[in-house]
Amino acid sequence: MKSLSNLFRYGPGPSSSHTIAPYQAACAFRKLLTCPLDKVRVIFFGSLALTGEGHHSVFAVQEGLKGYPVEVIKDRLTKPTHPLSMTFEAIQGEKVVLSRSYRSLGGGELSSDDDPSVIEKDIYPCASLKEIFAYMKSENLLQIKDFCLKFEDPSIDDYLMGILKKMFRSVEKGLSLEGPIPANSNPRLQVTRSAKGIYEQAVKLKGNKRRFMLLSAYAYAVAESSACGDLVVTSPTCGSSGVLPAILYYAHKNMKMPLTKVRDALYTAGTIGNLVKQNASIAGSVGGCQAEIGTASSMAAAALCSLFGLSNYQIEYAAEVAMEHFLGLSCDPVDGYVIIPCIERNGIAAIRALACFYYARYISPIRQNKVNFDDVVAAMKITGDSLAMEYKETALGGLAYILDPKHC
Ligand code: SF4
Repeated sequence: MKSLSNLFRYGPGPSSSHTIAPYQAACAFRKLLTCPLDKVRVIFFGSLALTGEGHHSVFAVQEGLKGYPVEVIKDRLTKPTHPLSMTFEAIQGEKVVLSRSYRSLGGGELSSDDDPSVIEKDIYPCASLKEIFAYMKSENLLQIKDFCLKFEDPSIDDYLMGILKKMFRSVEKGLSLEGPIPANSNPRLQVTRSAKGIYEQAVKLKGNKRRFMLLSAYAYAVAESSACGDLVVTSPTCGSSGVLPAILYYAHKNMKMPLTKVRDALYTAGTIGNLVKQNASIAGSVGGCQAEIGTASSMAAAALCSLFGLSNYQIEYAAEVAMEHFLGLSCDPVDGYVIIPCIERNGIAAIRALACFYYARYISPIRQNKVNFDDVVAAMKITGDSLAMEYKETALGGLAYILDPKHC
């Protein structure tokens, strides 16, 4: 597993795999360019070709290659070996003088067979939660944070505090904004930001109604900003970037949890996200929405348990339950815009994370969980592998099909 700084990145929405990763690939390729060129050709394959427009992928590579004329080709016919593949070609006259290919792995991470500069190193020796708990026992470590600090650079504490503050800034900014969310002309996608209105409604309510609506307002605030292309933290992705910040902001603002304690919960959330990334996927185009929203909800539920000092068994319980009941969730963004179903899904996943925290707190002492976290991640992987490509961020199936004006 890689550093938590690799999981939690700060970049423009609406999609870490379709926006941040192509931008980074373009920057990496640009560094290799040494002579004047006529143009750079970028070829998108798979999900990048099918939903790149709604995900601002073209803009992302143009930004990364600023100063060069860029031609983008969306190859929707070639079946790539990875659903998020792209090739960059430097062109002089008719000749391709340099070519590199990249794969977007989710959360803004890249891999490449011919550009090793984009590959980040594994720093953790454990690859499952079972192994992590065994290591912690052997070293007498009580908390997941203690485990992480054995392998992370000491600067990680400050890095995560910076990430937390960026998450909170996104929540607060999103709560203050109004206006339309950019999209194409599909009438179903003509929506305006609603986080501010939800918040104003929430503060008039009491009890659980207030709690659920506040969490929704916070999650919508970030998810709407991501859909508008604003800067957000990948948690673990841009599409699911509202869930964890909503829970952490709620814990700080409404439950009065101190900032440093909330920061420490990012170690737990990040470890859960890292394990999913390592053993399955956090990309909707690889594993469906279970990989994004399911993982985000699982991370948020685990974070809340660690904030309240629940045991490691209960942290695992909450993370497992949160993921288990999102298994099979398809990724079907309408017209490739991260608006429907994505924004609402962030709100629901935040509420679900709170419910899973309650399950861990009150049901786990009564009823032993028979499914462990590593099992549910393995189940998520085989479910994602067998999902049809229509349900993996291609905008061809599910709601994307039903809400396409051609089919209405
Ligand atoms: S449906 Fe889920 S996985 Fe797909 S783009 Fe939306 S949030 Fe991401």
